[in-house]
Amino acid sequence: MTSKSTKKWVLGTLLTLITLSIVSCFGVTSQIKQHLGEKTELVNPSIFKTSSSPIGIKNVSVLSADCSKMLDSLTVLIKDDEIIHVAKGINIPNEYKVINGTGQYLIPGLVDTHAHLHRSKNDLLLFLANGVTHISEMFGQEKHLEWRKEAEDGALSPKIYVATRKVGSQKGLMRKIRSWFGSQFNYTTPNKARKAVRKYKEQGYDAIKLSTFLNAEIYYALTGEAKKQNIPTIGHLTSEVGLKGLYTSGQSQLTHIEEITKNTMVDFGGLGYDNTEEYLAYLKKNANDIAIKLKEIDMVISSTVWIIESIPKQNFDIENFLKTIELEYQNPGEIEGSKLAKGWLPGNNSYENMDIKNDPNQIKNHKLFWETYVKAIHIMTKALVKHNVTIVTGTDSNTTGVVAGFSLHDELESLSKIGLSNAQILHAATLAPVEWMHSNAGKIEVGHRADLVLLAKNPLENIKNTRTINAVITNGKLLDRSVLDKVLQSIKDANNKSRKININEFIN
Ligand SMILES: [Zn+2]
Repeated sequence: MTSKSTKKWVLGTLLTLITLSIVSCFGVTSQIKQHLGEKTELVNPSIFKTSSSPIGIKNVSVLSADCSKMLDSLTVLIKDDEIIHVAKGINIPNEYKVINGTGQYLIPGLVDTHAHLHRSKNDLLLFLANGVTHISEMFGQEKHLEWRKEAEDGALSPKIYVATRKVGSQKGLMRKIRSWFGSQFNYTTPNKARKAVRKYKEQGYDAIKLSTFLNAEIYYALTGEAKKQNIPTIGHLTSEVGLKGLYTSGQSQLTHIEEITKNTMVDFGGLGYDNTEEYLAYLKKNANDIAIKLKEIDMVISSTVWIIESIPKQNFDIENFLKTIELEYQNPGEIEGSKLAKGWLPGNNSYENMDIKNDPNQIKNHKLFWETYVKAIHIMTKALVKHNVTIVTGTDSNTTGVVAGFSLHDELESLSKIGLSNAQILHAATLAPVEWMHSNAGKIEVGHRADLVLLAKNPLENIKNTRTINAVITNGKLLDRSVLDKVLQSIKDANNKSRKININEFIN
């Protein structure tokens, strides 16, 4: 053995030993399972009694296809998974289960276009219990392709659209770490990137998810090949490409309105504590032009506004913030985190700003920064709406602080506070995203997929009324209020059984 190969051998053995000891010390796989929610008891969906006999909802107010008004006193007939009749005064055949819709409001099922199921299958039920009948998984794995298939085969689940894991172009140690944890696929040559697009399409993914950590060369290789293969590209917008690059790249969807404002900050020269007013003035001057260009290329943008609004609250007021969300329904694995990843609770929350907690000056600056950051997203959202750019509702569910299903209603309220009309919000939460997913739902008209939500109060009067759910119909299956309550209770029970940390003090 030469001295060179001896050295290599020693180094290799040493590295293997170190890796093995890290793996055994931390129980890496077990830790990952913990914080991604896989260790939480699974609720068996087949215990819930759903009716799949034909349904007739009589004398109900129905949201018009353009979401602008309620059409009063209609009867809606549903057979199998389809709406087969919508009219006034029709007789409901004997074999139909009749629901008296008097004084109630029927809207299409809601959509969360930015979900992260991770390994928390109970989330599928949480979505349904909140009237969410379509979701887009934005960090897709083989498991999610299986869940999508189960949903197609009739399992109690929203319809699932699956984008790949993030695709990036990182090199070196970070690349190794990210691929070790499976959080990002990295490609360092255009050829490999193009080959990957073809592979993901073949594996059955609905879209390619673009990472922030993507250089221009690989970004264009991915978007170019995806266009050729007719598979959408969804994701972040790397600053190396910027808005100018986006206008011609063929990227199909931006995953956050924040992606636009982040890039305007780069173009402005960077947002700091001392230039917040100047930046906002710069953005106001440019927001309309950006929106016009985005409209010209038919860009679709997932909103995810509420999560950004929650970050400053999670930064400095985590105890009170937790009391405002439905923490008891959130997978305890995610809440508690693991040795490898932070969770949601005080002292272990990834957004909580521990290092400057006792420095009033830094807190003031930090708050000013976030206030500006949020204001920028509001300004941009208004410009997008003004120029009819397609916004679809998304929440980034399972990201710290964002509880699946419930967060969609928080998102709708955020959009309302920005100034969208309730009709515009309902359009962004129903028809716009299902059209993007090429799903035949989103309208209460004959021939459409029966994904519906029956509400006690009119959401066109107050968007908060999307929370007044009396029944959900998913793919023709009826879950009435008593079943929805059982679903929620079962998830709460499973979470409580699986919990290692008591969360009572954080629940309102
Ligand atoms: Zn996300």
